[in-house]
Amino acid sequence: MTRTFAPEALIRKDNFIGGRWVPAIDGACFAVTDPADGSLIAEVADSDIADARAATDAAAAALPAWRETLPKERAEILRRWHALIVANQDALGALISREQGKPLAEGRGEVAYGASYVAWFAEEATRIYGDLIPQQQRGKRMSAVKEPIGIVAAITPWNFPLAMIARKIAPALAAGCTVVGKPAEDTPLTASALVLLAHEAGVPPGVLNLITASRQRTVAAVSDWLRDARVRKITFTGSTAVGKHLARESADTLKKLSLELGGNAPFIVFDDADLEAAAAGLIAAKFRNGGQTCVCPNRVYVQAGVYERFAALLADRVSAMKVGPASDTEVQIGPMINERAVQKIARHVDDAITRGARILTGGTRLPALGPNFFAPTVLVDADSRMELCSEETFGPVVPLFRFNEECEAIEAANATPYGLASYFYTNDMKRIERVSRALEAGLVGINEGAISSEAAPFGGVKESGYGREGSKYGLDDYLSIKYLCQGNL
Ligand code: NAD
Repeated sequence: MTRTFAPEALIRKDNFIGGRWVPAIDGACFAVTDPADGSLIAEVADSDIADARAATDAAAAALPAWRETLPKERAEILRRWHALIVANQDALGALISREQGKPLAEGRGEVAYGASYVAWFAEEATRIYGDLIPQQQRGKRMSAVKEPIGIVAAITPWNFPLAMIARKIAPALAAGCTVVGKPAEDTPLTASALVLLAHEAGVPPGVLNLITASRQRTVAAVSDWLRDARVRKITFTGSTAVGKHLARESADTLKKLSLELGGNAPFIVFDDADLEAAAAGLIAAKFRNGGQTCVCPNRVYVQAGVYERFAALLADRVSAMKVGPASDTEVQIGPMINERAVQKIARHVDDAITRGARILTGGTRLPALGPNFFAPTVLVDADSRMELCSEETFGPVVPLFRFNEECEAIEAANATPYGLASYFYTNDMKRIERVSRALEAGLVGINEGAISSEAAPFGGVKESGYGREGSKYGLDDYLSIKYLCQGNL
């Protein structure tokens, strides 16, 4: 029987090190609050260097035995973990919504999405093949085998507190690596709940370790992993600025890095597109998690011939969206993660207005709901001088840019240091071929706004980072290739 937990029973306040829940060594704690109303959910361990070191020690002690387990044994544990996550979908979804703010249906959806990676890598664990290299010289046999890279440090953001860490832990465990993890300070509880279920599934002590830390202490705690030569890989999802910092700071021990960083996704609507489908796709891609998604369209380019019609269609739908706390089951847009996030959104909208943009709907904070709410917004007459063109807004704001020629849209779409997601809508087959090749991005949605899948490679180019999560490529980042040359045969 797969065990189910009540939502409160999933909450853990301590670090998980060597198979035990332990407080921070110096007893420090920090508060985790509900972004809808600021109420306290829990005080959790505020870890420092010594806690990070203890986690690495546990991961190092567990590595020799774990890397020797059979792939099918690791797969079986991952399957049990998957079953537990699915069985606890409602409780986990409610926890995500409470600490992160996304609507309840989206919280449950995130659980299913994160679980799909665990199921996927349970299967992939059994398909880690090597190669027998065609013989080059008589009397010599050459082969390549794949081995777990070693201890993996996983550092994750707040916007998908379950999915982002699940899709790092699952491939690491599948490959035979041990893990030290640190979730974002805004949303540590979901990650701890996930680790609780992994333990319940039979992940041996020390194989998976998790520490939580406030923003202030994170830098010191993580720096210990960056300097420690036993940690062979960093897998990070978060902002580009922090990703660069991790790359610089881990250079001395030459760790392998996977960096899933920020985006500034373009969404192009050509005048031959199905406008209804484009509006639906844009809404799906843009307003998921209140616009706080790295693959959210940030800049929407609409061809001049359909600009007014598309803007009106979109504004009509966006103005009908319901905003409120995640606990209200009819809500489509929850609170933003914190006050800082709302201030950035308001700054981007104000800057756009000052530079000539017009609001079709929204455009303001919603103080009656609380300090962290912002109205879903459609802006027209956006242009490239505006801050929302060059920076990720990370909120429910759609700026519409006008273009005339295809080449103009492609040039504008690529005029960013980022290259994570991109989208375009057209019914012209030749254009589909041209534009999908021309866009500088790791992911391209063609007449589609919902593109993430455990079966597909997820990751960016340019300053959106490197490495791929999910798919048959997702294990590569956790493996190293060893060449064996056997002579005297
Ligand atoms: P962030 O970079 O501020 O934080 C991410 C993680 O890094 C957190 O756990 C944080 O505590 C930790 N961290 C922060 N400063 C650190 C430091 N100096 N040393 C070590 N660790 C540090 O990002 P965020 O605000 O939590 O998340 C939003 C960002 O994440 C956005 O830019 C978004 O685009 C990006 N993101 C990318 C993807 C992707 O797959 N490419 C997915 C989700 C989010």
